[in-house]
Amino acid sequence: MSKGEQHASGAIRRLDWASLLSYAALLGWLTVRLAPEVPHRPWFVLTAVLLGYLAADLVSGAVHWAADTWGSPDLPVVGPALLQPFREHHRDPLAITQHDFVETNGNNCLISLPVLGVAVWLSPGADGKGSVFLPAFLGALVFWVLLTNQFHKWAHLREPPPLLAFLQRWHLILPPAHHALHHTRPFTTHYCITTGWLNWPLGWGRIFPALEWCITACTGALPRRDDLGTREAAQVMADSLPPRRSSAPR
Ligand SMILES: [Zn+2]
Ligand SMILES: [Zn+2]
Repeated sequence: MSKGEQHASGAIRRLDWASLLSYAALLGWLTVRLAPEVPHRPWFVLTAVLLGYLAADLVSGAVHWAADTWGSPDLPVVGPALLQPFREHHRDPLAITQHDFVETNGNNCLISLPVLGVAVWLSPGADGKGSVFLPAFLGALVFWVLLTNQFHKWAHLREPPPLLAFLQRWHLILPPAHHALHHTRPFTTHYCITTGWLNWPLGWGRIFPALEWCITACTGALPRRDDLGTREAAQVMADSLPPRRSSAPR
């Protein structure tokens, strides 16, 4: 793939900028509305921020799984804006390290906008009426969602700066060795890319293979057909079945 193809087109670049600026405006507005509440209930807000960190890892896994597994980059808007970057990342994992802040984070800002809108709407207005915990949680969630692609990008750096290497070593952000487990064809595990903490329970519970079987049973769509082709995609799905138990008596 040529270098020109690896970079976002002009339209996507403008969409990234619009998403980033809208995100900054809405998050700033939410912060102004919630800030007076923080001194009154700091633990309340801290809990919301930490739960947001956990939820961002779950959202990163769900969005990454959906973008890797379903649909085509040829779909209008969502194709080039969301699906194409994930598919391109499998073909060239180091390209992300060349992306600037806008290209790295524009799509995460885009998917965060409706959530931020709801958070601002629920937060206390000039009359002091409104809730605090849910808007604080949603605000923290989209803040960590914004940082998710940044953590992901840093997991691909050959030599991360000492502070990042420290955070990765203690698994406070996505560690390179943990994320490398996703970068093996057919890319069916370790989708969470904020911290990766939830990859363990999601993998143990076989949550994504179960969802794929449900969706295929309901719609007939074959996961990863666009990326792998029908034959390999069908094989990958068959391999994701739990091993058959022998019916013979023990
Ligand atoms: Zn992937
Ligand atoms: Zn990656």
